[in-house]
Amino acid sequence: MEFPVRCFTCGSVIGDKYEDYKRLLSQGPDKALDQIGVTKYCCRRMFVSHVDSVDSVRRYNK
Ligand SMILES: [Zn+2]
Repeated sequence: MEFPVRCFTCGSVIGDKYEDYKRLLSQGPDKALDQIGVTKYCCRRMFVSHVDSVDSVRRYNK
């Protein structure tokens, strides 16, 4: 679904960094996360494990 606004574990706001992450992803996820300043591993796993499924769900709208 949509990317979460906050990290589930520590509650840091991460939703505003997701667009930057996607833009930098061509360099590899570890470098992209370093550049946007996400250092805690609980927050980093939010980015790495997220699946962008909103487009595949939108197909079922009438
Ligand atoms: Zn966190």
